[in-house]
Order: sequence, then C-alpha cells, then structure tokens
Amino acid sequence: MRLALFGPPGAGKGTQAKRLATAHDLAHLSTGDLFRAAIRDESDLGVRVASLLSAGELVPDDTTNAVVADRLETLGDQGFVLDGFPRTVAQAEWLMGHLAGAGKSLDAVVSLRVPEEDLVQRLSRRRTDAETGAIYHLDFNPPPSDLPPGRLVHRSDDQPEAIRHRLSVYERDTAPVEATLRAHVRYFEVDGTGALEDVQGRIEDAIAQDHGLAGI
Ligand code: AMP
Repeated sequence: MRLALFGPPGAGKGTQAKRLATAHDLAHLSTGDLFRAAIRDESDLGVRVASLLSAGELVPDDTTNAVVADRLETLGDQGFVLDGFPRTVAQAEWLMGHLAGAGKSLDAVVSLRVPEEDLVQRLSRRRTDAETGAIYHLDFNPPPSDLPPGRLVHRSDDQPEAIRHRLSVYERDTAPVEATLRAHVRYFEVDGTGALEDVQGRIEDAIAQDHGLAGI
C-alpha cells in the first residue's frame, strides 16, 4: 500500500502516519522529519535548510524531491505512508512521474480536515520527544510523566509567528495540490478532529472502501 496523508500543518498527519505505519507495517516517510534529522546531524543538507524550516518556508522542490527519491530507493517494494509530501503542485507531478517510472502509483491520498482555529491551538501546544520523534499535545495527549523534561521539544516553527506563516504558505502553495491529486489518485476527505484512535479508524474505513485493508 502506498499512501499519502494530506492537510495543513497541525492536521495530525505525523501522528496518524506513525500509527498507520505501525499498524500496517508501512514505512513512514516524513520530509519534515528527514530535514530535522539533517539539521541535527549538521549535514550539508541540514545547513542549507535550517533557516527555511525555522521561518516556516518551504524547502525548494528540487532539494525536497531528491531527498524523497533517496528514501524511496532504500524502501524498494515496501509500502509507505507519505507525511508532508507532496506540498507543491510541482512535487505532486514529480512524485507521480517518479513512481510511474518504476511501474508504481499512489493507492490513495487521505486529506485530514481540521478547522483552522484548532490547527493553531494544536501546533502551539504540540511537543515532540527529541529522541523518539513521538508527538504529544500538552492537553489532549500529554507526554508520559517520567519523560525527562530536556527531551521534550517545542519546535521553533511551532511558535505563533511561524505558525501563522506556515498556514499562509499552506494556503498559497499546498492547498492547490488537492486538485492535482484528485485528478490522478483516489482521494478521501476524513474528519481529523476527535480522539486519535477515532481518526485512525476513519482513515482505515475510507481506504478500505475500495482497497481491502488486507492488501495494505
Ligand atoms: P513538517 O514537519 O511536515 O511540518 O515540515 C516542517 C518543515 O519542513 C516545513 O515547514 C518546511 O520548511 C519543510 N518541509 C517539509 N516537507 C516539505 C516539502 N514537501 N516541501 C518543502 N518543504 C518541506
């Protein structure tokens, strides 16, 4: 199964991608996580993209596509769930061409729908475990009490100014990707509000409608 989760920052793509990957033995491919790892490693890529990430700007398409191509290469025939990619029409077109070149395609895109006021609230209260990448919300999905406080990170792009900017970048560059995806791939809209397990259940129900989950 080759799946992409689509939606604005804070819609729950990362959280749900991790859950789906674990439940269905898929690789979780998050471009944001790959960039943050490169920044932590201070690699050439990390040095190039660090200021873009903290400002909430998109990394150029060529750079992003190359990172995805590398990662897909290492996955071979394993199924995957994309999180945060594609984010521009050019990335979507590249992805479909790249997969087609290998005789593959995306099986489904799931768009997570969450009202804008909830997005800001979710992002500003989001915290990440720097070691495991686990994502928490201080009110609705609090970190375990025995987690060393130093490991809990408030992403620099989850500060109010960067959040506002990321949402406007989403409207400008990413929302238009929906039309491209709808034209080429099975596209499902799923309510992204409520309990994590309920959202996961809705995603699985949507995909199962015309692609037996057994095949995931
Ligand atoms: P995320 O973790 O998905 O919210 O991504 C964090 C940041 O990484 C974004 O605000 C961008 O700066 C960068 N990024 C992640 N995915 C992409 C992408 N597909 N295209 C361009 N930039 C990206």
